[in-house]
Amino acid sequence: MGAKTVEPFSPPADIAADELTSPFWSALNQGVLSLQTCASCGKFRMPPSPYCPHCTSTQSSWRPLSGRARLYTYTISPIAPRDPDSPVYVPALVTPLEAGGVRLFANIVGCSPEDLQVGMELELMGPTGDSTAPLFRPTAPARDASAQAGSVG
Ligand SMILES: [Zn+2]
Repeated sequence: MGAKTVEPFSPPADIAADELTSPFWSALNQGVLSLQTCASCGKFRMPPSPYCPHCTSTQSSWRPLSGRARLYTYTISPIAPRDPDSPVYVPALVTPLEAGGVRLFANIVGCSPEDLQVGMELELMGPTGDSTAPLFRPTAPARDASAQAGSVG
C-alpha cells in the first residue's frame, strides 16, 4: 500500500500559444483533446505545423477526439526531490486511441504510482486550468482489472 498519491504538477514553462497551437490549447481548456488533421491526406499533425509532413498540403482542420489514450511511457518524479515524503507527479507520453502514431506529453493524475502500467487506458481530465500539459487519469483502477482477472466468479 503506497501512501503517496499522484499530484498534478507543471514545472514552470513559458508556453505561448501561437496561431498554430492555440486551437489545441483552447480545446484543452474546454476539456477536449483536439488534434490538427491534414485536410488533404487526413493524417494527424502533432505538433501542429503549417504544412503536412506527409503530403505537404497547407490545408488543415482540427478534429476533436474521445480523450481516451494509452500510456506509452512515464516516469515518477518527486515534486520536492530532497523531501522523502514529497508528493510525486507523473510526466508521461500517451497515445490517443484514434491517433496511434501520435505521442502527447501529459501528466497522469488520479491514481497511485503503483497503479501505473504501460499500455493502460487513460481518459483526459478537463479542463486543465493552468496546467502546461494535458491531464489524464486511468479509466478504471488497475487493481480492479487484476482482481477481475484473478477471480472466476
Ligand atoms: Zn497530408
